[in-house]
Amino acid sequence: MKFHKTYSFDDVLITPRPTELASRSEVNLEVSYICKHSKARFAGIPICVANMDSVATITMAKALYKHKMWVALHKFIKQEELEVFLDKEESKYSFVSMGISEEEIVRINKFKFLKGIVIDAANGYMNSFLDVIKRIRESFPSSIICAGNVCTPEGVENIIKAGADIAKAGISNGSHCETKNKTGIGYKQFSVALECGQAANELNALCMSDGGCKSPADICKALGAGSHLVMAGGLFAGYNECDTAEWDNTVNPPKMKMYGMSSKTANDKYFGGLQNYRTSEGREGWIECKGSVNDLAQDIKGSLASCCTYTNTRNLENLYKHCKFTV
Ligand code: 5GP
Repeated sequence: MKFHKTYSFDDVLITPRPTELASRSEVNLEVSYICKHSKARFAGIPICVANMDSVATITMAKALYKHKMWVALHKFIKQEELEVFLDKEESKYSFVSMGISEEEIVRINKFKFLKGIVIDAANGYMNSFLDVIKRIRESFPSSIICAGNVCTPEGVENIIKAGADIAKAGISNGSHCETKNKTGIGYKQFSVALECGQAANELNALCMSDGGCKSPADICKALGAGSHLVMAGGLFAGYNECDTAEWDNTVNPPKMKMYGMSSKTANDKYFGGLQNYRTSEGREGWIECKGSVNDLAQDIKGSLASCCTYTNTRNLENLYKHCKFTV
């Protein structure tokens, strides 16, 4: 058997190089991509809050709108509330999320238009998942469709060929993920960002590296590896904008409950408990309040700009062309 060596974000560092940039303010952090199938423009800062119900709230989307960062609004937001929000300018950087059940397909089809849709399945290798992508593409020809998760070039190719503009890549590296401990399945996230980013690029499509970013540096590494976008969940937990999460205000600072979307807590909350053929592949924990997400957004922007300065990158879109890594 031949083993292919893979790397985590912590395994690598980006090498600095002589730079013409004198200041971080010379760096443009906004990307602009024309999507493969929809021909829609994906613009803004290429960071997206993961569609986890504790962090991907409407309040989060309103706060991050000012930073031009994206949120994949979670699928349990009430339909009426979602419709009201989607009519507002503040929803400009919002995806709407869905799973792959018939019920969810019916729910999404009730919308006349959606700017962006995230189709999410824990296992994006199922043929039935590809069928859902095809159906949603037929109903929404001009929407930006992001679908996943897979973690290999083969998986990316299948998702893009089924009609998605963006392949969401990452299995087993999420902060609240238990997949590799329960099933042995996984792929280290730096290698996912690199290999899946390249695969998407070759198909003239986009890759969103999903999971495993514990710091702004990991976001720099994922983009530097060649993923076009980065999705993060745990990084955004503990901020005031997680206003619909469960908070313990009896402690100082208060703490919020963060859990994976297939944890026991999430299953109890939305599906009346774990079905007996399933195991929980999500973890849960309490996270201390860190204040406003504006501070994190500033920190991420500053880190990205600094990384670009170190690598002589004027436009974040080109970071991967300028990044060399050491192990
Ligand atoms: P993070 O940025 O927190 O490291 O990773 C976020 C990603 O973890 C999500 O976008 C999603 O792909 C994944 N995730 C969220 N909840 C769960 C879960 O309960 N189980 C697993 N296996 N993955 C999860």
